[in-house]
Amino acid sequence: MDSYDVIVIGGGPAGSATALFLARSGYKVVLLDQSRFPRDKVCGEFISPAADAILEDLGVLSEIEAHSPVRLNGVAISSYEMTGFAVDYPPLPRTTRPMTSLSLPRFLLDRLMIERVRQTGVAVKEGHKVTDFIVEEGRVVGVRGRDNSKTPFEFRVDVVVDAGGRNGISLRRFDLKKKSRGSSKIALAAHWTTQHPLKKYCAMHVSDPGYTGIAPTGENQVNVVLVVDKKSLQGEKDLHDFYVRTVLKNPLRRKLLDQGEVAEKVRSVDSLGFFVRPPTLGGLVLVGDASGFIDPFTGEGIYLSLRSAEIAAQVIDDCFMKKDFSRNALAVYERRRKREFHKKFLLSKILQYLIYNPPLCNRVIQTLARNPDQAATLVGVIGDYIPADKVVSLKFFGRLLANSFRTDSRTLAEKKWNQDLEQNG
Ligand SMILES: Cc1cc2nc3c(=O)[nH]c(=O)nc-3n(C[C@H](O)[C@H](O)[C@H](O)COP(=O)(O)OP(=O)(O)OC[C@H]3O[C@@H](n4cnc5c(N)ncnc54)[C@H](O)[C@@H]3O)c2cc1C
Repeated sequence: MDSYDVIVIGGGPAGSATALFLARSGYKVVLLDQSRFPRDKVCGEFISPAADAILEDLGVLSEIEAHSPVRLNGVAISSYEMTGFAVDYPPLPRTTRPMTSLSLPRFLLDRLMIERVRQTGVAVKEGHKVTDFIVEEGRVVGVRGRDNSKTPFEFRVDVVVDAGGRNGISLRRFDLKKKSRGSSKIALAAHWTTQHPLKKYCAMHVSDPGYTGIAPTGENQVNVVLVVDKKSLQGEKDLHDFYVRTVLKNPLRRKLLDQGEVAEKVRSVDSLGFFVRPPTLGGLVLVGDASGFIDPFTGEGIYLSLRSAEIAAQVIDDCFMKKDFSRNALAVYERRRKREFHKKFLLSKILQYLIYNPPLCNRVIQTLARNPDQAATLVGVIGDYIPADKVVSLKFFGRLLANSFRTDSRTLAEKKWNQDLEQNG
């Protein structure tokens, strides 16, 4: 049997990126995924602009570009049919380089990533479900599982990376998952066909009973994610019917979809938000959604997966240099990840609070609409290339509060939003 240095469980963005970074550093990697690619995944399919640099570094961006993907200029945010704005991404700090975001089906993104992994010599084993870890002397030293034909397999290595997503096997096996307050939310998603999709923006609309993210993902195709509290589903017998009805009940969404029609059966993800305790054993690292998930509103999951894969690969490389795979040695990864992302997580939580408070939400969105500089900074932070402390700061909130008393006439950002709606109307 072939021997490997690292096992990666899962071939989503987190697992593929980790495998690519490690293979590039010369490690023998085996990637195990229970699915066969291409496979689909419930997602807003809108990728932070900051992800481009990592995808380019991994040699995947050119493959993506070859499929002429949709590129968005910015984000449109609106609330409760009252107010909204559309704002372009500001240029990368200290440059004039315009920023855009990729918006492409996960069916394609994940396939292109796994193909790249295979090209770099990683052993990709599809249809291989990991069912347990091999633990010796307080350290994970391998995995066991079954392939699609029920044949058992076992691999032993120095480090196992669990990139198995929100249902990652280590979360159950080591009881690492904690429900968050957002866990009562459910996301429903489907692609729609429409003649005139919003072309330049990902449209986030907050409304009762929840919010939608609408992003074009191809010619005449948009992806519509609806996030609602599970209580809204009480008494509902047909999830698909509820989703279509709720999306179309809202006049603004109807306008955005421009008589579009849902093109597939709706898919759902339950108990959206959760936290994850770091493992207590050596030899194990959690990357991507397996390390926790807040809420898709700020749409950073794919970037976070790619960037945390990069950090994890660097730390694993250091561990191989020192021949130390203990919990202490690997904990450097969690510390670095937390240092880099904790303000962005805080922002996501603040936005969570805001979107479920209609008067406050309207007020903030109206204020941002009239202060395009602040709106652009926020969008750059959401896009993961402006540091989150530019928004999570007393200075930003103080200015927001002061600006909320201004009663200027409509700004360019509001006009842009209205123009976009008119084009669709
Ligand atoms: C409703 C919704 C909307 C979202 N919208 C956006 C968005 O617009 N932009 C964005 O950036 N992010 C978004 N996200 C987040 C994004 O989808 C995730 O952050 C991202 O998919 C995480 O990637 P991953 O590789 O960690 O996990 P996944 O993509 O879930 O991949 C995990 C892989 O592991 C495999 N696997 C699992 N268990 C095992 C096992 N035991 N053995 C073998 N294989 C296994 C699975 O088959 C799967 O292929 C959204 C999430 C949701 C729920």
